[in-house]
Order: sequence, then C-alpha cells, then structure tokens
Amino acid sequence: MSASLEQRWRELQADWPDGSKLLAVSKGHPAESIRTLAGFGQLDFGESRLQEARPKQESLADLALRWHFIGRLQSNKVRAVVRAFSVIHSIDSLLLAERVARIALEEGQRPSLLLQVKLRDDPTKGGWSRSALEESWEQLQGLSGVSIVGLMTMAPQELPLDGRRQLFEECRALADRFELPECSMGMSGDWREAAAAGATWLRLGSVLFGARLHQAAAG
Ligand SMILES: *Cc1c(COP(=O)(O)O)cnc(C)c1O
Repeated sequence: MSASLEQRWRELQADWPDGSKLLAVSKGHPAESIRTLAGFGQLDFGESRLQEARPKQESLADLALRWHFIGRLQSNKVRAVVRAFSVIHSIDSLLLAERVARIALEEGQRPSLLLQVKLRDDPTKGGWSRSALEESWEQLQGLSGVSIVGLMTMAPQELPLDGRRQLFEECRALADRFELPECSMGMSGDWREAAAAGATWLRLGSVLFGARLHQAAAG
C-alpha cells in the first residue's frame, strides 16, 4: 500500500500548481499512511472528526505536523479542537467564531481560521452567504485570540466542472476583497479548477491516499 501512496504523492508533486499548498486529508486513513507522507516532507494534514483524529495525533506526536480541522465543528467540541488543531477551515457562523476566539484565549492558543462560505444554494452544507459575511465582517475583525486568514468553500455535488471553476473564482474574488490571503477550495475531483482560480490550499483525500478505508462515525 505504501508503494502506491508514494506513487500518487510523486505524481501529484510532478505537476503541482504554483501558489497552492497541499492539505493531505487523512480521514479514513491510518496513522501509518500519514507517517509515510511525513517522511516525504508533507506536514499539513486535514481531519474532519475529532474522535477519529485524536488517536492518530497521539500516535504521531513525535512528528512536527500541522493539523487542520475541516469538518463541521459542533460547539461542544470547540475546546478540544482548539487544543489539537492549529488551523480550522470550517468556521460557518459568527457565533462559532466568537466561541472559538473566547476559548482560544482561555487555552493560550491562537488558531488560524478560515471562514466557510456558501456561494451557491446547497442544503447539505453550512456556511456564510456573501451578505452575511459582509454584515459580520467588522465583528470578525474585532476578535482577539484568533487570526482570520482566509475563506473556504465546497462545491455542490451536482455542479459541473466549469461551474466549479466559476464558483472558485468568485470565492477568490471575495477573499481578495476582504484582503484575506488564503483560499481553501478544491478536492480530489476539482482541484485543478480550484488551483486555476487561485486556491492556496487544495484539500486532497482520495486522489492522494486512495479510496477511504472506512467512513468514520459522526463526532
Ligand atoms: C473529505 C474531505 C475532503 C477530501 O475529499 P476527497 O474527495 O477525498 O479529496 C476535502 N474537504 C473536506 C471538507 C472533506 O470533508
């Protein structure tokens, strides 16, 4: 298995787009695969569920990895996530941002936050609309304890590739308007479109690790 992981890693590196960073989405994959990639120099890993991430983080504590939380963040998990992750990509409301900031101050942490935006109707996802973000922007900027570094978005499942490219360009333009450097967008099926539109983080799971071994339970 680790031979093909290495092969996929090398293939991705071979035509990696300038200006984008690889966030290796390791959910559904064991700690040993993460260790293999760390050996190639990959240090940023994304997980979407705290319960799945914690044991892996503990068994990899000897490595200087940067952990990114990319799943829906429930308010009762904020403290544990702030302790275990340095970047959170899935801040989808002002209430959540305020809670993260307050707890980060209490914990002596300063996480980097990305605001998850929803620029197309999609009942399956949360996120800020353009107007909600504009309304909250002043309050967001006033939060101490966190660094707001960018926007994150996910394309609706049924959106074709040209529509995704358009969506990603809108997300990039919105980030630019708020002078936010980071744009986390693009997954295994649409990362080239995201990179072309100016993504700085490409969140790649299956195209790097192969099919997920298990679907973790919620939490
Ligand atoms: C699982 C996941 C990914 C990676 O998905 P792939 O299609 O396997 O690349 C990216 N972003 C988020 C938010 C995810 O939950």
